[in-house]
Amino acid sequence: MKTSQEYIESLRRLNLVVYMFGKRVESVVEDPIVRPSLNAVAMTYSLAKNPKYEDIMTATSHLTGKKINRFTHIHRSVDDLVKKSKMGRLLGSLTGCCFQRCVGMDALNALSMTTYDIDAKHGTRYNGRFLDYLRYVQEEDLVCDGAMTDPKGDRSLPPHRQQDPDLFLHVVEERKDGIVVRGAKAHQTGAVNSHEVIVMPTISMREEDRDYAVAFAVPSDTRGITYIMGRQSCDTRKLEPGRIDRGNSAFGGHEALIVFDDVFVPWDRVFMYKEYDFSGQLVEQFASYHRQSYACKVGVGDVLIGAVQTAAEYNGAQKASHVKDKIIEMNQLNETLYCGCIACAAEGRCEPSGTYYVDTLLANVHKQNVTRFPYEIARLAQDIAGGLMVTCPSEEDLKSPEVGDWVKKYFRAANGVPTEHRIRILRLIENLTMGSAAVGYLTESMHGAGSPQAQRIMISRLVDMKEKQRIAKGLAGITAERDTVPGK
Ligand code: SF4
Ligand code: FE
Repeated sequence: MKTSQEYIESLRRLNLVVYMFGKRVESVVEDPIVRPSLNAVAMTYSLAKNPKYEDIMTATSHLTGKKINRFTHIHRSVDDLVKKSKMGRLLGSLTGCCFQRCVGMDALNALSMTTYDIDAKHGTRYNGRFLDYLRYVQEEDLVCDGAMTDPKGDRSLPPHRQQDPDLFLHVVEERKDGIVVRGAKAHQTGAVNSHEVIVMPTISMREEDRDYAVAFAVPSDTRGITYIMGRQSCDTRKLEPGRIDRGNSAFGGHEALIVFDDVFVPWDRVFMYKEYDFSGQLVEQFASYHRQSYACKVGVGDVLIGAVQTAAEYNGAQKASHVKDKIIEMNQLNETLYCGCIACAAEGRCEPSGTYYVDTLLANVHKQNVTRFPYEIARLAQDIAGGLMVTCPSEEDLKSPEVGDWVKKYFRAANGVPTEHRIRILRLIENLTMGSAAVGYLTESMHGAGSPQAQRIMISRLVDMKEKQRIAKGLAGITAERDTVPGK
């Protein structure tokens, strides 16, 4: 396993083509806007080396028997699935942001099942290829971007009927030694902090879309790949000299658009090629795993709740009954989220490939809760934090020889609490509920791993309505079917 320093050095050696604010980024490792997101990924390495977290953060490879980072592991038991959920909460709580590495883990696990199932039906040899690739990822302890979301263009049209055929990533050339692909993947979490990009289709497909039914992996600095960074609210605060106004100056997340401009992929890295009948399965399996991964938001919720309790104490308001009640409400919502990500793991099962897969109904219910509860937790946080969170003068004013003393004097709260501490905790709440970390805590909770409607469709498909009706009709005496009447 790599140390966090070795991870950072390995990123330095990559030759990524990254654009931000219309300019090429010289070095993602040194860039002040990207760096906090890299620090968050680096935590997945440093915690794995920390004996305190070894049980959660590491696993034993089923391929080599060696100790590996859990982010490169294929789940081999229910215990593995439960530990994955716990790892998400742990990292969310220690970084207060999206730590990005789950998408690759979820892509690897989904591919471990889908490649096996394609081979079983079509007699192909994808699973062996995939396991060779997995061995490489585990040995090198790599970060993989799991790239699923295509730009999609006109949502009412399938890939082959789009006016611009590149709006879904597709194969443009088949060669003896591999394939050439063109298109893009949008909203890619952690893309420029990754060593590898694992590409998967984004929707289920029919025969006419077979050129779009492709899955593969390429090194992130492969020729023809360009990254265009997404903007985040308050991102340029990271360019300011002070740190207080950033709220969480050490960590953050990022997203990027990845453009594939005729990228060559050798055959040994192609894991699905025109098997359109498995596109839907791969999407569903990746999405279900990733919906479980939203355990991360429970950890971020821990940070927000801790910040709100602190803000209430700084204001001297912590004993007010409504404040106490609102904080109880925040905890109840946050722990309900935890119940969901633990439950879908605990109800997981072994698939024919030997990989353990989450309970898909519960994973979808969990993610549906994630599209709602963090918003309510954030609303309560802003309620308790008070208006100063958005009217507070800047760090420069706090430190100004002219007005600094007035800022300190008039924004003082409870006795003994330095005004600077009060401002720091409010800036953290601002960061989490409306600043750059709100991308991760709120909008990503809404749209990450599929938007709310995607989960509702899955819930309606997976719930056994007929069985519920059978029981209800039996108990109502409409049918003679009664399973459990005592004495019968
Ligand atoms: Fe992982 Fe959560 Fe970030 Fe998704 S949003 S990559 S699950 S930390
Ligand atoms: Fe996400």
